[in-house]
Amino acid sequence: MDLIAESEINEEESIFGEEEIEISEEEKRNMLIQAITFMSAVLKQNPRRGIIGTMDCPLCKTKGSVSYTRSTYNGHLHAGCSACSVGVME
Ligand SMILES: [Zn+2]
Repeated sequence: MDLIAESEINEEESIFGEEEIEISEEEKRNMLIQAITFMSAVLKQNPRRGIIGTMDCPLCKTKGSVSYTRSTYNGHLHAGCSACSVGVME
């Protein structure tokens, strides 16, 4: 199990705090559900630390458009889809 010691708030601010767009509660919820769906699909691939891989996107179903990397020192996962631009950063 990995310990999450870094501030997640800062990362959220850097993603959502740049533009002044009105986002409804429903859209926020959808984004969260998408992120969770995406994240669990990537983790299902069971990426080992230090590897870089690709997989089919669980959201837009585009083949091989998701690339992911897993940090060698803290196991944190970075992944993103090049087609629908959904992504996660732990
Ligand atoms: Zn996608």
